[in-house]
Amino acid sequence: MGFRGSRRGLRGWLNNSRNGANGTRPTLLLPERYSALSLFRHGLTGENWPRVWRDHDLKPSYDVVIIGAGVHGLAAAYYLARNHGISDVAVVDRGYLGGGNSGRNTAIVRSNYLTPEGVRFYNRSVKLYEQLAAELNFNVMFSQLGHLTLAHSDSSLRTMRWRAEINKLEGVGSEVIGPEEIKRLVPYLDVSSEVRYPILGALYHAPGGIIRHDAVNWGYARAVDAFGIHIHQKTEVTAIDVERGGVVGVRTTRGRIATRRVLNCTAGYASVVAGMAGVALPIVTHPLQAAVTEPVRHFLGAVIVSGTLHVYVSQTDRGELVFGASVDPYGAYSIRGSLEFTEELAGQILELMPSIAKVRLVRQWAGLCDMTPDFSPVMGRTPVKGFVVDVGWGTYGFKAGPVSGEAMAELIATDKTPELIAPFALARFTEGRLVGEKGAASVGH
Ligand SMILES: Cc1cc2nc3c(=O)[nH]c(=O)nc-3n(C[C@H](O)[C@H](O)[C@H](O)COP(=O)(O)OP(=O)(O)OC[C@H]3O[C@@H](n4cnc5c(N)ncnc54)[C@H](O)[C@@H]3O)c2cc1C
Repeated sequence: MGFRGSRRGLRGWLNNSRNGANGTRPTLLLPERYSALSLFRHGLTGENWPRVWRDHDLKPSYDVVIIGAGVHGLAAAYYLARNHGISDVAVVDRGYLGGGNSGRNTAIVRSNYLTPEGVRFYNRSVKLYEQLAAELNFNVMFSQLGHLTLAHSDSSLRTMRWRAEINKLEGVGSEVIGPEEIKRLVPYLDVSSEVRYPILGALYHAPGGIIRHDAVNWGYARAVDAFGIHIHQKTEVTAIDVERGGVVGVRTTRGRIATRRVLNCTAGYASVVAGMAGVALPIVTHPLQAAVTEPVRHFLGAVIVSGTLHVYVSQTDRGELVFGASVDPYGAYSIRGSLEFTEELAGQILELMPSIAKVRLVRQWAGLCDMTPDFSPVMGRTPVKGFVVDVGWGTYGFKAGPVSGEAMAELIATDKTPELIAPFALARFTEGRLVGEKGAASVGH
């Protein structure tokens, strides 16, 4: 039984939830339920909606400090309270909630990865996303419209077949389809043989789709706040205090917090923050850019990814086309967009869909991606006691928010690594057990 989003549901959670690690249950402050009736009432009375989350003074100590108020930090806080009764938690962010990659991504959710470990893990996240709107009483606009990864060569077709087989073995819906079927699903795609890179087939993944990233961040934040967890925006962590091999506190721009459990969820800044605790991560930060067009009538029935052309596109509920590509080819901490990116993007996308030539690009932006050598995340303990990481999310981590939050919360609460995330331990880089996902994660985030 979890946070259900209705007053009855929340009361049910209070009655049925397990006690926390210290024998207490977090206080749940019932947030106002969003419904047609409450919309009508507010419209009639003009009464303001309550704030979705509140500001707090920084306490001198917390049971757990989570650094980073993106989807990973917020989800971990939510499942700590919901599943383990731990709510003496601070989520601190140097900027604003969702201001990192969690508010900058192109919101593709899928589980058609290459390794069994990856498929299993991301599939759990898709399942959690499917129930998230009802659970949080917050419309996260998850549209499972289908996901197509195009193959333009025999070798990429072989990789698609490989992925389809692994997906099926793990119970995930994926199949390789030919150009005719692709044309039927997306009539605007050029599947002729007259182009530079003809489309030979595609991996079709029906459960894949897009979600509304802001809504996910805000929905989690609202639930986290209702559990009494403190979200501290504009609170930068500047140092992590370690004594006798274990964490004892973090220093922030608003004061010191004593704590023995710290979770690093800082994506592009993951290695900088880990460095504060003396932990080296095999991560290089690269900018990743994206762009969006003016809204047009709905015509795109699936998310389209082309690894060969380094481009992908989806259409939002409002009709905008959202484009992305692979990371900029150099490590950097700059989030400036470049003309080079838009020129290349336009050329590649017109190769796939020449008929959209007149649609105008209205905006481009960038985020900072924490890239690992094997394109899989780093989750779990570090050599510093109490300092755990949920990082290395590169260009593909938004879809993993719920499952990572759930697993990291379990690790922090029980001090045991859940089986689902064991393959992603930091130790894999020294033990030679990489989880190679490059074939499924380099462009199609
Ligand atoms: C353009 C783009 C497109 C993408 N598309 C997809 C996609 O389609 N699907 C997908 O699954 N993933 C995608 N991703 C990747 C995804 O967005 C990220 O992997 C995911 O959002 C990471 O979430 P997070 O919560 O770990 O980090 P973030 O959301 O980046 O949050 C980290 C937070 O840490 C804070 N922070 C940093 N340093 C400190 C400090 N010292 N003290 C306090 N706070 C600090 C930052 O301010 C930030 O808010 C994309 C990324 C980009 C940039």
